[in-house]
Amino acid sequence: MPIDATQPYDDSNIFARILRGEIPSNKVYEDDNVLAFHDINPLAPVHILVIPRGAYVSWDDFSETAPEVEIAGLTRAVGKVARDAGLVERGYRVLANVGPDSGQEVPHLHLHIFGGRPLGPMLAR
Ligand code: AMP
Repeated sequence: MPIDATQPYDDSNIFARILRGEIPSNKVYEDDNVLAFHDINPLAPVHILVIPRGAYVSWDDFSETAPEVEIAGLTRAVGKVARDAGLVERGYRVLANVGPDSGQEVPHLHLHIFGGRPLGPMLAR
């Protein structure tokens, strides 16, 4: 079920539980600002999620309210994770779903990193 990204943050969501260590993840990177782990249902040979440690429903509230250090931290981490996964030479895609039209399902901001094969057109027509 797509979520409503205008709702307040609900800390029972699955990524909040991963951040609290209540359920496991296949971690690839972490630092003070972010956690990155493999998507449980990969759509490409490389499909990694990068999430801020802070409580943000989506890109919308993150971009509006997060401190600059967290915005810089997430941005740098996405680049590093992609680089460390060896994706730069062939290329990769970064995607954030926000709200119902995008199909966002988890109400904690996450950036998808896709790579490892030609990724096709940007959107289905
Ligand atoms: P979105 O549709 O942008 O909200 O994407 C949510 C993503 O989270 C999907 O690609 C799911 O496969 C992924 N996902 C859901 N639960 C988990 C989990 N426990 N560990 C890793 N990825 C997950």
